[in-house]
Formats: sequence, C-alpha cells, structure tokens
Amino acid sequence: MPRILEISQLGSPVIRERAAKVTDIHDPQLQTLIDDLFATVAAENGMGIAAPQVSVSKRIIILSPKPNARYPYAPTMEPTAMINPEMTWGSPEREKDWEGCLTVPGIRGLVPRHLTIRVRYHTPQGVQIETEFDGFLARVFQHEADHLDGVVFLDRVESTLDLVTEGEWQNIIASRGPL
Ligand SMILES: [Zn+2]
Repeated sequence: MPRILEISQLGSPVIRERAAKVTDIHDPQLQTLIDDLFATVAAENGMGIAAPQVSVSKRIIILSPKPNARYPYAPTMEPTAMINPEMTWGSPEREKDWEGCLTVPGIRGLVPRHLTIRVRYHTPQGVQIETEFDGFLARVFQHEADHLDGVVFLDRVESTLDLVTEGEWQNIIASRGPL
C-alpha cells in the first residue's frame, strides 16, 4: 500500500538543497517513492509535489492539477510523474498568478511565470517525453521544478506586497475570480 508521507516545511534544510539527478529509473525503490508521492499529493489536495517536499533530494516531480476549492479554475490532468524534468525553453511572455505550497502553509503569493514552456522528462517507465505546457500547467511545472533547485515561490515574487495570508486570499479570489 502506498504511504502518505510527511511534508517537509520551509526551514527544513532539504527544501533548500539542489536535488540529485535520478540515475536508475528502474530501481524498485524509486517506483515505491513515486507511488507514495501520488498518495501524498492526493491526500493533501495538491496540484503537484516534488520529492524534496517529502525529504527525498531526488529530481522527481508529480503534476496533478484538478479543480478544487482552492483552485476552482485548475484544469484536470491525470497525475503524472516526471523524472529528471527540465525546462528547455520559456516564452518571453510571463504572467502573474496566485501560488501556494504545501511546504509554506498559510501563505499565497502572486508569482510571475513563463506563460508557455517546453519541457523534457522521463516517465517512470524510462520513456523520454518532450512536450509543451502553457498557462496553469506551465505554472505548476515551473513551481515543482523549482523545488529541485531549492527554490520556493516566495523567492519568485516581485515584491513582498504580493504575499498574503490564505484567509485574505480566499476573500480576494471570492470577490474577483481568477486573473
Ligand atoms: Zn511547492
């Protein structure tokens, strides 16, 4: 049975480390970790998760966007594991929108991200995928990939004035809807 893992919080050293590249995709322990990450992100209602967030400093992310109370405008995507993900191109056009993070509870921030990106990653089966994401998916990818370099969304805000508490953010999106 997959386990729900504990989320590392900001201040834990693993959150600020550069994660190591995965060298053996077929290691059975890696498949177990991926199953646990799927279970954990589902239990936490996250749009994605990165292995360092469960204290494993390896280059693995999960994207699992779906609409919920916090992100009513999120697209639905089958939860997808990406090993050694890389952004190979980012559009000059950027967009600011709200982000939160399981590692930084209680805070939301307006974060500028590339609107469109090209990415490369390996599936858990070892197949290399090259594809393009835009909008919300591009944002979730950039957020999760940042975790592999020890970067959190707080580092990306243009101003600390773009940070709000979760309670105030609920008021903002209720009155205005998505950007
Ligand atoms: Zn995060």
